[in-house]
Amino acid sequence: MKEVGFTTAIVHSNRQAGAEHGAIHKPIHTSVQYGFDRVEDLVGVFQGSIKGGFNYARQGTPTTAALETLITGLEQGVGSVCFATGMAAITATFLTLLQSGDHIITSRFVFGNTNSVLSTLVRLGITVSMVDASDSAQVAAAIQPNTRLVFVETIANPGTQIPDLSAIGELCKARGLLYVVDNTVSSPALFRPKSVGAGLVINSLTKTVAGHGSALGGSVTDTGCFDWQTYPNILDSYRKGDAAQWGLLQIKKKGLRDMGASLSSEHAHQISLGAETLALRVERSSTTALALAQYLEKHPAIGRVYYPMLSSHPQHAIAKKHFSAGSWLLSFELRDASDCFAFINRLQLPIKATGLGDTRTLIIPVAHTIFWEAGAQVRAEMGIADGLIRVSVGLEDSADLVADFEQALHG
Ligand SMILES: *Cc1c(COP(=O)(O)O)cnc(C)c1O
Repeated sequence: MKEVGFTTAIVHSNRQAGAEHGAIHKPIHTSVQYGFDRVEDLVGVFQGSIKGGFNYARQGTPTTAALETLITGLEQGVGSVCFATGMAAITATFLTLLQSGDHIITSRFVFGNTNSVLSTLVRLGITVSMVDASDSAQVAAAIQPNTRLVFVETIANPGTQIPDLSAIGELCKARGLLYVVDNTVSSPALFRPKSVGAGLVINSLTKTVAGHGSALGGSVTDTGCFDWQTYPNILDSYRKGDAAQWGLLQIKKKGLRDMGASLSSEHAHQISLGAETLALRVERSSTTALALAQYLEKHPAIGRVYYPMLSSHPQHAIAKKHFSAGSWLLSFELRDASDCFAFINRLQLPIKATGLGDTRTLIIPVAHTIFWEAGAQVRAEMGIADGLIRVSVGLEDSADLVADFEQALHG
């Protein structure tokens, strides 16, 4: 089929792979075991000489494989592997590709739970340098002879910091480093990390790809940009066949087998359904988020507003260059932090909840919740003020949401 648009490709993804019984939507395959008429075929699936076969659902099912094909298409990669959650995808990537004595470089504004994984890596003998990745010189200065990879997120949560995505891509290419980009907040509808040379792309499918807050899932996509023949930690068993697949093969085989955080077919199905409206939802929530950010920025009771498509954003130029819109994530500071709870309670539409990328707008005071355990010193280092409020903008009508903030600010 000729090159088609983003949503056309998604809604016809299953048909490309061959519909079963003409079913327009991929069926949910719940079988754990897969049997064969000939033992040679059973052996072939085990040994990998038969491609695309199944033997045991921990390593994948036809339903999870259909979602992997869909995600690969969204990221324009050469293959994907799905996991039970975004965290499982991140942990599996690190644990299968790194070993004791390795060094990695990450943004210092990564997602809190990813930070927790990084501290686990340190306990396993992997060293981690955390830098301000909006300045690629800081990434360059952190490179050591044993550096294996650079890990960044496209838009950080809650502060919306953006790394110098293309400069880091060029640096990784020049220095032969694997570039891993967590695309969760932007999603492939707004940005493809392949365009800046990322070798691996991670998505928490739980968030905006599913979009309905009813299923957990995560994925790793190989973009084909990285030469796995140069990567020292690929085990001999996976240094076979097409070298473009070595990395993903190791993440899939070792990640799913050893950690066992496999995506269920039921959730894969729900995520696939949600993904069909990804571009529509992201476009709408980004438009609303920008309108809300612009309204808040002008209000005297509001201090700083963090949203990539505001010209006041420190990495606005990078955002405009790479992202087709600013996403649904926005945060802002109340000048008077003591007013924080009363203000949030006056809001009628946003739901007081953690979580991101839902159909409903979600709101949370950051210092008192997701960054409470981190303590005051870490909050100060991360630039998290006591009055910082995070909003994940949903699908409500923009005028209703802005009007609700207006009444709450004047209350
Ligand atoms: C939520 C999130 C994750 C983890 O995803 P889960 O599916 O909740 O495990 C990883 N990275 C980012 C940027 C996230 O926002």
